[in-house]
Amino acid sequence: MLNITTGLTIWCSEAFTLATVLFFAWRHDRQTPAYLMWAMGFTVSGVGFALVAARGFIPDFLSIEVGNGIALLGESAWIAGFYWLDNRRLDWRALFPPLIWFAGVELPWIHESYVNRVILYDLAGAVGATLLASAVRPAEGRREGVRGQLGFVFMALACLCFASAMSMTLLRPSLEEALTYRSYSALGSALLITTTIALSGRLMMERSERRWRAISITDTLTGVLNRRGLQDYFELVAGKTTKDAQKIATLLFDLDHFKAINDRYGHQTGDIVLAEFARIGRQFVPRSGAFGRMGGEEFTAFVLVDDQAEAEAIAETIRSNFCRVPLLAGRSLVPATVSVGLAIMPCDTANWDRLVSAADRALYAAKRAGRNCTIVFSEAEAATAADTPPDPNGGELVPTLDDQIHALRRLGTLSRM
Ligand code: GH3
Ligand code: MG
Ligand code: MG
Repeated sequence: MLNITTGLTIWCSEAFTLATVLFFAWRHDRQTPAYLMWAMGFTVSGVGFALVAARGFIPDFLSIEVGNGIALLGESAWIAGFYWLDNRRLDWRALFPPLIWFAGVELPWIHESYVNRVILYDLAGAVGATLLASAVRPAEGRREGVRGQLGFVFMALACLCFASAMSMTLLRPSLEEALTYRSYSALGSALLITTTIALSGRLMMERSERRWRAISITDTLTGVLNRRGLQDYFELVAGKTTKDAQKIATLLFDLDHFKAINDRYGHQTGDIVLAEFARIGRQFVPRSGAFGRMGGEEFTAFVLVDDQAEAEAIAETIRSNFCRVPLLAGRSLVPATVSVGLAIMPCDTANWDRLVSAADRALYAAKRAGRNCTIVFSEAEAATAADTPPDPNGGELVPTLDDQIHALRRLGTLSRM
């Protein structure tokens, strides 16, 4: 038969071991304070159950009131840990389990009866488990299947605690029966809590994998996708047949005379110019597309469009916004501009090498055309791009805003003549 003191001692050593492991996990990864909160939860829970187990050796007040209250405070810390995991504000309702205990235990008819104290403890535990189930619910936009499983196990724990409280209320067992009964329900709870620990470990592993993956596809200076991230995106959309015959456009951006900017205003200003361009690029590339840094002062955007004009409009918006943004180095204005090469292909036949090399050739033509402009390689030109030697005069120059303003002014002058 199970002995309650042995059970409590086993739980204490398990709780202290887990607290130590979680504390070291937090030392290793301080960006995740949830580890520290859970470590505190297990420490508090271990201390609480140690006090309960020491019944007879320490004053009853310490063992009963304080011991059980502290054990329930451990549940509050676990709830807080899940809030911290998602950077949510702590919710004072996390304190419900110990508050329910301290509010009820001083009532004489509860304080004097072991069965009633167990019922109160189980009800507080059921509330805590329900709050845990609600705290692990999937955060918005995240698909973490393991959270659903965790929520299910916490709900099972809540049901077990509630069923234990109800059966004690209805059966009114003798003290000896209640002790045995309590041992088995505590064993069930311990098993469920161990399952939640294993599932939480999986949740943390998946989170850290996602974090490392995000780091591996992000450019550190500008925060946009790096080349690997752009390639991943391309693989995701290229070669797919879309029902509305969408096209994929590649926009290759190369900052003009960037070496001269570095030489004249310093490398640090150069970095600021790169970050500013990345901000503008990210702002104007639609969510269905991707924008990233290929390396150095070269950036690329992939956009899904219905026609060439749509892609041209995006390229021109980025180009014109960039040349207008006031970039200051001390008191001087940095004259930063960008040239754009654009190539377009149907999604189902798109190929990285062809598309990027066609956009590169269009970019080369943009540089030759005087920089700070966009040159477009149409579908036919993009498709033959890899097979023919570069034609510096190829492509079609997209009239820039400045060109259009000049043209309108000229028309105005002509009409007045
Ligand atoms: P063009 O108009 O023909 O493109 O001329 P450019 O000077 O922009 O081209 P070039 O390839 O000669 O120079 C690119 C410069 O970009 C050289 C390099 O020092 C600078 N660069 C590359 N990566 C970084 C970076 O991360 N930060 C800064 N500040 N400069 C960088
Ligand atoms: Mg370059
Ligand atoms: Mg350049």
